[in-house]
Amino acid sequence: MGTNPKRELIDYEAASRILAERGIPPECPICGANAWGPMGPLSNLYLALPLADLSGQLVEGGGLRANSLALAFTCGNCGFMRLVSEDMLARIRDEGGQ
Ligand SMILES: [Zn+2]
Repeated sequence: MGTNPKRELIDYEAASRILAERGIPPECPICGANAWGPMGPLSNLYLALPLADLSGQLVEGGGLRANSLALAFTCGNCGFMRLVSEDMLARIRDEGGQ
C-alpha cells in the first residue's frame, strides 16, 4: 500500500472529490452516463490486485502477498468498471493535490 502502510486509506467520497478537482470527466467512457457507484454496500470495498516483479513472479512469501489496492467504480447504466489506484490518489492527497 504505497510508501507508508500506516497511512489512512482513501475512501470513495475522497476519491470522487479528488477526481473532480483534477478535472477528470465524470462521464462513463462506454455509455456516457454519470451514474457511478462504489463497490460494496457500504462503499467500503477495494479491489486487491496481485503484484508481480519484472520476471512475472508474484510478490509473495511467508504466507503474504503484495497487492495494489484499487477503488472500483461501476457504471450504474452499463456496468463498465473503472479502477482507480488507491495509492496514487493517496499520494495526490498527501502532496496537496500536485
Ligand atoms: Zn456506462
